[in-house]
Amino acid sequence: MPADAAKAVLRAAHAQGLRVLDEPTAKALLASFGVTTPATRVVRSAAELEGLDNTLRSPYVLKAVSPQIVHKSDVGAVRVGLRDARELAMALDEMRMSLAAKALHVEHWLVEEMAPPGVECVIGGVIDPEFGPMVMAGLGGVFVEVMRDVSFRICPIERREALEMLGELRGAPILRGTRGQPPVSLEAFADALVRIGGEGGVLLSLAGELAEIDVNPLIVTGERAIAVDVRIVLNAPASGSTP
Ligand code: ADP
Ligand code: MG
Repeated sequence: MPADAAKAVLRAAHAQGLRVLDEPTAKALLASFGVTTPATRVVRSAAELEGLDNTLRSPYVLKAVSPQIVHKSDVGAVRVGLRDARELAMALDEMRMSLAAKALHVEHWLVEEMAPPGVECVIGGVIDPEFGPMVMAGLGGVFVEVMRDVSFRICPIERREALEMLGELRGAPILRGTRGQPPVSLEAFADALVRIGGEGGVLLSLAGELAEIDVNPLIVTGERAIAVDVRIVLNAPASGSTP
């Protein structure tokens, strides 16, 4: 049962004084609810990259994991399209030096499989003080950041409502395929939305422990929806509350 294990993860993080789960932990939590995430390996140094080519499929993505880093791309903490363990090791050394020069301390390195090309979308979730858990869907990049083209529902949502949410987006034609671009799998996107915002999903199961979840981006291809970046913010329970 994912809910109990996930609650334990969030409470343990909270007991350590964390406010945000690290990316590998957030991804593992989301994956336990059935959302697709990239195959991943966490390493502490370039030496641990040995044998990686047998366990993960190239091309790879390398990310620095650090509580000091929120927007990884802004500080050069993400490299995509790395072809083999040698390129990964070089990228890791470069990244380590450039982050150290910015006084950013890296705890772990996340190596993951690169998702195939698709449309970058977002799923969000918050615990609203008035409405309780709410789930949000949108397209990524300028659609969400500049145009605020998103749709919301109060949880739980069913599959039909998830598909409705996608249909409401001004950017919906992009999901359906335009200008020679193939359509993406609305079914896979809706499935991810239900696993986060549905009955027994992340938000309803963890409403007491979690304050916010952000999947940005969810890369949606013709077949799959892959959560390649996940941020989970913990709830700060009132002091004196018992677990
Ligand atoms: P940030 O902290 O900057 O948001 P992300 O983890 O979202 O970092 O990575 C930045 C960008 O790199 C993503 O928006 C996406 O375009 C690309 N990216 C990251 N991980 C993957 C992956 N596993 N597969 C494909 N593209 C990825
Ligand atoms: Mg991101």
